[in-house]
Amino acid sequence: MTLTPLPAFDDNYLWLLDDGREALVVDPGDAAPVAAALDARGLTLAGILLTHHHGDHVGGVDALRPRLAGPVFGPLHEPMPEPLQRLRGGDIVELLGLQFTVLDVPGHTAGHIAYFAAEAGREGPLLFCGDTLFSAGCGRLFEGTAAQMHASLRSLAALPPETRVCCAHEYTLSNLRFARAVDPDNAALAAYAAWCEAERAAGRPTLPARMGQEVLINPFLRCEQAPLRDAARRHAPSTLAAAPEPVDVFATLREWKNGFR
Ligand SMILES: [Zn+2]
Ligand SMILES: [Zn+2]
Repeated sequence: MTLTPLPAFDDNYLWLLDDGREALVVDPGDAAPVAAALDARGLTLAGILLTHHHGDHVGGVDALRPRLAGPVFGPLHEPMPEPLQRLRGGDIVELLGLQFTVLDVPGHTAGHIAYFAAEAGREGPLLFCGDTLFSAGCGRLFEGTAAQMHASLRSLAALPPETRVCCAHEYTLSNLRFARAVDPDNAALAAYAAWCEAERAAGRPTLPARMGQEVLINPFLRCEQAPLRDAARRHAPSTLAAAPEPVDVFATLREWKNGFR
C-alpha cells in the first residue's frame, strides 16, 4: 500500500492510498491533482471517502465521478454532493481490501466523521481525520461545541500510538508556534518542532503524524496535563477555576489560539 499526500490549494492534502492497481482518495477538494496522480500511475479510482462538507474537501467529487469505479462515502448528517453512501459512527467501509471503521468526531462541523483502519500494513494503522485533528493543533469550532470537539479528540487520542494520522492540512509549523507558546518546557515538542522545520525547509510534508507523538506534543490532546492547565489559567484567570476540568482547559486553549499570531 502506498500512501501519498497530494498537495492542493494553499495547504490542503488530498490523501491517496493505492495498492498499485486501485486507489482511494480522501476529501478531494480539487479533482485535478487526483486525476493527474491516477493517470501517472495507471490506477483505478475504487472509492472516495469524505469527512465533512467544506468545499475544499468535496469540491472535486463530481469531476471525478466519470472515472470512479466504486462508491462515494460521506457523513450522515451533512449536506454532501449526491449520490453517496452515508455513514455514521461504528459503520465499516471496505475498500482496497482494508476495513475502515467510521468514527463520529463532531466539533469542526456538526456531522464530521473520520475513518480508521486498524490493519493497514507494516507501516501502522491509518486515520483519515479531515479537519478534526492537525499535527500540533486541531480544527476550528465552526459548528460544534468545545465539549464535542474535546470528546472527539479524546477518542482519536485513544487510538494506537503507531497510528498514521492523515490530516487534511499542512498547518503544522503555524500550530507549533502556538504549542510552544503554551507548553514552553516540553522537550519532546521542541525536538518535534526542529524536525518539522527541517522537513518543510526540504519541501517535504510533516504528515502523516504519529498518534503516539501527537499525545506528547499536541496541546489540544494534553488538556489534563499540568503545564497546559496552568497556561490556560494564566491566560483566563477570571473564567477558569483553580482545578479546571480538561474540557474547560480545551475551550480556553481553542479560544486563545483563535486570536494567536
Ligand atoms: Zn473544514
Ligand atoms: Zn479543510
